Amino acid sequence: MKLIRAISIATKELQKKGIKSALLDSELLLSKAINKEREFIILNSSYNIHKNNINDFWKLIHQRSTGKPVAYLTGKKFFWKHEFKINDKVLIPRPDTEILVEQILHLYRNKKKISFIDVGTGSGCILLSILKERKDFKGTGLDLSSNALKICDYNAEKLRVKNRMKLFKTDIDKFDVGKYDLVISNPPYIKNSDLKYLDKEVVNFEPRLALDGGIDGLSEIRKVIKKSSELIKRGGKLILEIAFDQREKVKKLLRNNNFYINSVVKDLAKNDRCIISTRK
Ligand code: GLN
Repeated sequence: MKLIRAISIATKELQKKGIKSALLDSELLLSKAINKEREFIILNSSYNIHKNNINDFWKLIHQRSTGKPVAYLTGKKFFWKHEFKINDKVLIPRPDTEILVEQILHLYRNKKKISFIDVGTGSGCILLSILKERKDFKGTGLDLSSNALKICDYNAEKLRVKNRMKLFKTDIDKFDVGKYDLVISNPPYIKNSDLKYLDKEVVNFEPRLALDGGIDGLSEIRKVIKKSSELIKRGGKLILEIAFDQREKVKKLLRNNNFYINSVVKDLAKNDRCIISTRK
């Protein structure tokens, strides 16, 4: 079958299922099935697709039509400046989370060496993006999921930053190794009772462990703040991703745990997204 025809059939199929990015998704999934870049798909509409590849493609399209996110089907997602290997054991890296990376690089633009922790590191997208940008920084990733740690380790190897990274399978409140200049975290912060209102593609396919913030959405944030006040050196920073409606509550938690607030940064949609604080 010619490439253009396969794309057209797949796009219609996905549109029928209400998928808005049907054409783009079809192109990405075809490039996965024939193991070529998306550019190739765009430039070679009369390319003949081999029978085996077509079968793989229909399988991918079928899975996509059930709502499974493209990134889980292709096994990769671009974040900041690099492509990360992912699977459904880790949250798909979000563009909004790049704000944390941007803020950290700005705050530490004149610091040569720091040592930091990323709590709930997942694919490692935050941790490894920072290590890749700053050759003398050292980073520690914590996660409860050994599958996530495996993915992070693979990404670290690929980005060649493994020698400056340590990984621990642990909850933050049980972690007692060392003192740090900085703790970063994009913890699970969705209220338990709000999970059902998330986009179906999120709630049905992404790991609950990475989303569920307990009864008030703050149970993991609370843990991170409390423990960070012990792990961060005096004058060191804690930088958290938060939900659009958590600013005041998180500020209060920070103040009660020996931090002062530096700033709250908004995302592109003008929602509060990131809170920067300093350990007194
Ligand atoms: N931003 C994610 C979402 O709403 C939630 C991530 C998180 O809980 N840390 O899909």
